[in-house]
Amino acid sequence: MCLDNFSTGRPANIAHLRKHPAFELVHADVSVTADVPGRIDAVAHLASPASPPDYLRMPLETLAVGSRGTENALELARFNNARFLLASTSEVYGDPLVHPQDEGYWGNVNPLGPRSVYDEAKRYAEAVTMACRRSLAVDVGIVRIFNTYGPRMRRHDGRVVSSFIAQALGGEPLTIYGDGRQTRSFCYVDDLVRGLMAMLDSSETGPVNLGNPEEWTVSDLAELVRDITGSDSEIQYHPLPTDDPVRRRPVITRAREHLGWYPEVPVADGVRRTVDWFRSRPYEDVTEGNVPHPHGGSPLLTAADSAV
Ligand code: UDP
Repeated sequence: MCLDNFSTGRPANIAHLRKHPAFELVHADVSVTADVPGRIDAVAHLASPASPPDYLRMPLETLAVGSRGTENALELARFNNARFLLASTSEVYGDPLVHPQDEGYWGNVNPLGPRSVYDEAKRYAEAVTMACRRSLAVDVGIVRIFNTYGPRMRRHDGRVVSSFIAQALGGEPLTIYGDGRQTRSFCYVDDLVRGLMAMLDSSETGPVNLGNPEEWTVSDLAELVRDITGSDSEIQYHPLPTDDPVRRRPVITRAREHLGWYPEVPVADGVRRTVDWFRSRPYEDVTEGNVPHPHGGSPLLTAADSAV
């Protein structure tokens, strides 16, 4: 069963699953309710905006889904004696002072800045998940996901890989924020999904980093996308967003040793596959979805305030 409020996702992305007899879609906001009837073996809590422009547009909704949403999902797991998987993030490391980042690093997060709505929500999600393990013996697993990309991203999702590909294919300038020397480590979605399944099937508590240690500067990524698409789009420089992390690369020893997991798709291959996917769908399906709960799950919002 899949719960989604489609605040950033699209029903078209799960259209192929809806034919499956064991698949059921419930249009719900997990920060309001996660009541699901029937027996449940596992709860995977992946709900949250994850692209910076999305969570900056929906700050209270992002805090709500990381806090109340996580509590509701934990309650569902506890009630069913089910395993609980939390999708946390490399953003818990903030703008890291340690490089590369292993799970023992506590991070460098600005608790007041605009990104804190995502970072601190995920840090709270980790804290409440661990408290449920300690106090209520819920079987939990936490993964920290590093920049993931691939087919089914929205063209205008705002993250760097989808933005560069959409810009290159559209003949528009590639927008580099800052000087382009900041780094990220990009993981192809199929690798990430294998990692999530391995964590669900294990009894590890984590946290476990899931990411591809292949580290790229944003400028090199722009060149790669131009090469793969054959685009001659120019590069356009824009200001760096507030608190944009300078460097990011996961240490994945724990994932290798405890889950037998490591990424198999090099960035160049993954970007090629993603470009092919975007090329095969020149028009985005925006006909369905984007009907979130009127309060966005936050009691601080009224229907009239709702940002989306
Ligand atoms: N970025 C960029 N141009 C864009 C979108 C993002 O240069 O059009 C940069 C962004 O400032 C950051 C990096 O690419 O340094 C990764 O951004 P993204 O939003 O994909 O992920 P996150 O910042 O959450 O790691």
